[in-house]
Amino acid sequence: MAAEVERVISTENATKSEEKIEYPLEVQYCGVCSLPLEYCEYTAEYEKCKEWLKTNLPDVYDELISQAADQLAATDVSEGATKKKQTRGGKGVVRVPKKKNVTKKVTLSRAQRNKKKYVTVVTGLGTFDIDLKKAAKLFAQKYSCGSSVTGSDEIVIQGDVLDDLLDFIPEKWPEIDEDSMDDLGNQKR
Ligand SMILES: [Zn+2]
Repeated sequence: MAAEVERVISTENATKSEEKIEYPLEVQYCGVCSLPLEYCEYTAEYEKCKEWLKTNLPDVYDELISQAADQLAATDVSEGATKKKQTRGGKGVVRVPKKKNVTKKVTLSRAQRNKKKYVTVVTGLGTFDIDLKKAAKLFAQKYSCGSSVTGSDEIVIQGDVLDDLLDFIPEKWPEIDEDSMDDLGNQKR
C-alpha cells in the first residue's frame, strides 16, 4: 500500500520536472546584454539586443517595437516640429528621445538575475552631471563587486546594494538629497 502511494508521488514529480524543462517560461534575459529584457532599451547595445530579440524571441520583439512606436508617436506630439517626417509604423527605428529639460532624479531599483543573485540599477546620476564611469568604479570599490555603465545614464551593480546606496549616494554627492531619489524596489520583469 505504502509502496503504491510512493510510486504515484514519484511519477507525479517526474512529470512536473519534465514540464519545467520543456517550458522555461520564467524571466527572459537578453542574450546580448544579459539583463532582463525590459532593461535592454537602456543599454548601449540596444540595437544589438533588438537583433537578438528578433531572432530568438520574435513575439517579444514585435511587442517591444509596437510599444516603442507608441512612445515615439507621443514624443512627436510634444515636439511637433519633426512630426511631418515621421511615417507612422515606418521602419521601426527606435531611439531613446533626447533629453530636454530633464528632471534631476536618481532612481534605484533591484532586478533578480536568478534565484539568488540580484543586480541594482541606478539611473539618473547623469542628471546631476556626475561622471558615470567614475561612479561605477566607486560603487565597484565600495561594494567589492562588478559595476558598469550600461546605458546613457544607467549603472548596473552586480549585487543587492540598493538600501546602502540610499545612504551612500547623498553622502557622496550632497547635491542629491533624499527627495531626489526614487526607490523603485524590486522591478518586475
Ligand atoms: Zn539586451
